Amino acid sequence: MELLVDRLTEDPSELEFTGSADWLASCAGDPGLAAGLAAPARFRLRAHRMGEDLYLEGVAEADFDLGCGRCLERYRQPVREPFRLVLEPAGSRVPADPEGAEALARDGLVLSEEFEAGWFRGSEVRLDRFLQEVIAAGLPQKPLCREECAGLCPSCGIDRNVESCECQEEQPHSPFAALAGLRDRLASKEGESE
Ligand SMILES: [Zn+2]
Ligand SMILES: [Zn+2]
Repeated sequence: MELLVDRLTEDPSELEFTGSADWLASCAGDPGLAAGLAAPARFRLRAHRMGEDLYLEGVAEADFDLGCGRCLERYRQPVREPFRLVLEPAGSRVPADPEGAEALARDGLVLSEEFEAGWFRGSEVRLDRFLQEVIAAGLPQKPLCREECAGLCPSCGIDRNVESCECQEEQPHSPFAALAGLRDRLASKEGESE
């Protein structure tokens, strides 16, 4: 996924890329993440020049088959992540960190601390790592098949979305529940003494 810098003008160019699971696992990608990719990821972007700078904006879309963090069922997780990137010419700048210097030499692209900015060098800018990061950023921290998923019972392990069990009452009381009980008893004693 290369951005050909010389082809860009002040008028936005529309670009489209797709990325397979193999692509997502390549470079700095996460093989575990790639294994869940249900169909190739899609990227639509508009790129143009702003003076010396390059301006990119677009959206990444993908569908993943993930395991729910509560009930462990596999479910389909759509990802739709908009992104923007402003790239300044690196010129003679050398990134202080070795990773950054390596990225600039290899991809012609190094991202700054702010995710949406960076520097480019040369006439071909490889966007693969950046787009992989966009996809990763679009995934939920904790995958859930649905917001109200009831999860598995911690005692007997049944899926509370499909069955119910009697375990709730046997769960140990929380310290807060015990305190609340104590407060109720004190309150009722005060009531008696009046
Ligand atoms: Zn679930
Ligand atoms: Zn149970």
